[in-house]
Amino acid sequence: MKTLPSTDVLIIGGGWTGLLMAKELGSRTPHSIVILERGGMRNPADYVLGMDELDYFIRLHMMQDPSRETVTVRHDANERSLPIRQFANFLPGSGVGGTGEHWGAQVPRFQPDCFQLYSRTVARYGEKRLPEDHSFQDFGVTYDEMEPYYAREERTLGVSGKAGNLRGKKIEGGNVHEGWRSEEYPNPPLKLPYFGSLMETAAKSLGYHPYPNPTAVNSQAYTNPDGVTRAACAYCGFCERLPCMIAAKAQPTNIFLPLVQKLKTVSLRTGTTVRRIVHDTAQGAGKARGVTYIDAAGEEVFQPADLVILASYTLSNNRLLMLSKAGEPYDPAAGKGTLGKNLTHQISFGTAQAFFEKPLNRFMGAGGAGMRFADLDGDVFDHSNLPFLRGGMFGAIMTGQAPIATFGALPRSIKARWGSAWKKAAMEYYDHVGVVAYSGEHVPYKSNYFDLDPIYKDSAGDPLLRMTINWRDNERKMVEFMTAKGVEVARAMGAKEINPFPGYQDYDVTRYQSTHIQGGTMMAPSPDRGVVNNYQQHWQIPNLFVLGASTFPNSASANPTPTILAFAYRTADAIVEKYLKKPGALA
Ligand SMILES: Cc1cc2nc3c(=O)[nH]c(=O)nc-3n(C[C@H](O)[C@H](O)[C@H](O)COP(=O)(O)OP(=O)(O)OC[C@H]3O[C@@H](n4cnc5c(N)ncnc54)[C@H](O)[C@@H]3O)c2cc1C
Repeated sequence: MKTLPSTDVLIIGGGWTGLLMAKELGSRTPHSIVILERGGMRNPADYVLGMDELDYFIRLHMMQDPSRETVTVRHDANERSLPIRQFANFLPGSGVGGTGEHWGAQVPRFQPDCFQLYSRTVARYGEKRLPEDHSFQDFGVTYDEMEPYYAREERTLGVSGKAGNLRGKKIEGGNVHEGWRSEEYPNPPLKLPYFGSLMETAAKSLGYHPYPNPTAVNSQAYTNPDGVTRAACAYCGFCERLPCMIAAKAQPTNIFLPLVQKLKTVSLRTGTTVRRIVHDTAQGAGKARGVTYIDAAGEEVFQPADLVILASYTLSNNRLLMLSKAGEPYDPAAGKGTLGKNLTHQISFGTAQAFFEKPLNRFMGAGGAGMRFADLDGDVFDHSNLPFLRGGMFGAIMTGQAPIATFGALPRSIKARWGSAWKKAAMEYYDHVGVVAYSGEHVPYKSNYFDLDPIYKDSAGDPLLRMTINWRDNERKMVEFMTAKGVEVARAMGAKEINPFPGYQDYDVTRYQSTHIQGGTMMAPSPDRGVVNNYQQHWQIPNLFVLGASTFPNSASANPTPTILAFAYRTADAIVEKYLKKPGALA
């Protein structure tokens, strides 16, 4: 195996967190930085050529190739796991920019109590209310500590929205249930699509508090504090699952890449798949020495480094630590180990498919353009007499309803399933259907976890990551309750016909849910309870930091990326201001 000259910092993954860290360390320190990204280079200028729904949206052009590496899934430890051959319920990205290139850019912050799931739940309802088999655990960092980092991330991305809680002062028209914020959003809300305006009126009539969905899509031309200028959104409707043609949607390649490319100390190597983090923990030193990777020519090389940052999305973060034997693997039967524990997957579904008489102009839209309400979120409402804990947010959002992907939704009263009658009905209803969406919390359980699959391997011969995951009564009952609420909202919006969501049975890999998978390398106040400390620094290997939602002990109803980026900024500050001055454990 070839050994390359050493680098000061090595970053695994060139997506949201990897490029953020390269920009921060590269612009604030003189250190040499190498970024290793398994996928290809992305030139945002290529996006200008236009959108191809078939290529991006249906054939998943920007996503991880499952024929080279996939994950296996089973519902419980007694089942045999099987590999996902075609990604559907989540869509991990590959290539510079990572999953952040084709994200939807909906950017709510976590509710303050999400950071203290265990202690706040017990304080309000007592230990007895915790679900059987739960593994609730606090983050060890509070919302108050994270607030400045949220504000920084929102300024960098140029988030469009309206505050509902400015330093404790509640503001009607914003989300009055959100945690306090130190400043207004940098940009006003996006234009409100007709469908969202129907939800606004209906939600108010039902006593809820609707607000414009915060979105990392520019409502006006905006220059961020790093001097990056991006255009205002044109509401073209090709947003989620695709990159933006005019860079109105914040993506790693238009927010961080241009700055990183100007830094002489940073080198970005594409087509490089990391296989192991090499460390000498077994010898007692607790030090990462670098990584091995397969380069674009297929050759395996060793890249030595003084500091390693793992920023390869939840799935690869877990797998690479497991393959590298960096951390004690979680064993649910013995209740030992932490690596792989607390796998959660944000709940997300359409409560009600609603059919309207008037056309909705669905061809216009943007990642998060629309209204939400959070009156049934987290612990905003009392759960004393409900059969479940926690909650979520409702939304009427025109993400851009790509015509091929969304064609053919029909009310159940239409019996035609094929032929000219079906085609006629599908044409008639195409622009008359909207979804009252819901995203909710998935609480952690001892028996939902990651480990390495004993049978299936990737194209290089390494074991695949295995997910053991299923829904419990808490999720099924929450989904049932929220579906009824969503149907009520759809009725109040004036829907002529409604298809309610059929409910949750077993975890399903065939229907898109969200690419918001958390856990496995969770942060904790001590090494026996988690893999990293709350600076996202590995407990046993202090020169290894792990970025991304893999460090979250639980999911929130909110989409995770703002929180992921806020934690990445906090870690960058800790590395620059503390670790590099005195290398060693920060906690
Ligand atoms: C369709 C879709 C819609 C979404 N919408 C939203 C939304 O509205 N709001 C929100 O908050 N979030 C959303 N997300 C999620 C969001 O994209 C992720 O949370 C975010 O990108 C995570 O950042 P990351 O840096 O952890 O991972 P990524 O951005 O995925 O970056 C990880 C990088 O690591 C690389 N990598 C992986 N393994 C290796 C390896 N072995 N060697 C080298 N490189 C490797 C990958 O190729 C990738 O480029 C969405 C995701 C999808 C797919």
